[in-house]
Amino acid sequence: MGKRLEGKTIVVTGASSGIGKSTAVEFARTSPKNLKLVLTARRIDTLKQIAEEIKKEVGEGVKVLPVQLDVSKPEQVRSFVRNLPQEFQDIDVLVNNAGLVKGVDKAGDIKEDDMETMFATNVTGLINMSQAVLAVFKKRGESGQGDIINIGSIAGREGYPGGSIYCATKAAVRTFTDAMRRELIATRIRVIEIDPGQVETEFSVVRFGGDKSKADKVYEGVTPLTPEDIAETVVFAAGRPENVVVADMLVFPNHQA
Ligand code: NDP
Repeated sequence: MGKRLEGKTIVVTGASSGIGKSTAVEFARTSPKNLKLVLTARRIDTLKQIAEEIKKEVGEGVKVLPVQLDVSKPEQVRSFVRNLPQEFQDIDVLVNNAGLVKGVDKAGDIKEDDMETMFATNVTGLINMSQAVLAVFKKRGESGQGDIINIGSIAGREGYPGGSIYCATKAAVRTFTDAMRRELIATRIRVIEIDPGQVETEFSVVRFGGDKSKADKVYEGVTPLTPEDIAETVVFAAGRPENVVVADMLVFPNHQA
């Protein structure tokens, strides 16, 4: 699998923590020769630290570029793709991972700001990135080539109390991804969706406004996934032979209801 990823240029959004960070590390570990990794998120200092950690662990065979990017801002996304240094411009894989949940209010009480932030990041942000990177993919070969890997959620398949807007954003990701995959079926562009169940990350605490005891309650009776569990799935999907598409995967803890 490492060989299949050799020489690839991979962009990961939301790489400053959780699943995105682990995914970047996993790509580097799997393919430590001639890989080019672009780490993006809003917290640039954290990205720079992660880039250093990756280089320290796998050596200089992997080139790592940290870039500050807010996916919800279309002009930032366009300028990100336009201004990548030459050696990182030929993107092969986009991992659309950036996403968040704001609040656990019931549908009738959701704050407008929280709703807008969730849609702007989870849905519009993912579409902004997909469009910008598809334009790069379409320049390659006769029909275009590359992988878009979208991180959805089990929340896009079923609702839960207190999660109505988040669930709606992830359902939007799911149908957008499915439609895009069908549109590109006759090309060499693969569109992949990976839907995690409960994964213990910063996300787990952020949604309760930092209240760790409330966050821990969610995991009663369940051993949540680690970000590495999802990272390994993402790298597996990207490393499949070209004629194989892992179109849709649901990965959740054994005891999650
Ligand atoms: P984290 O909170 O650990 O990571 C979220 C990442 O998204 C951070 O790196 C954050 O970086 C980035 N991000 C947030 N907003 C923006 C933005 N506007 N522009 C760019 N980057 C942004 O959470 P997870 O790792 O758990 O979440 C990753 C993905 O997995 C999300 O899409 C989430 O919905 C999904 N998921 C998570 C589950 C879980 O149980 N944890 C379950 C199912 C799906 P920064 O703040 O630096 O911008």
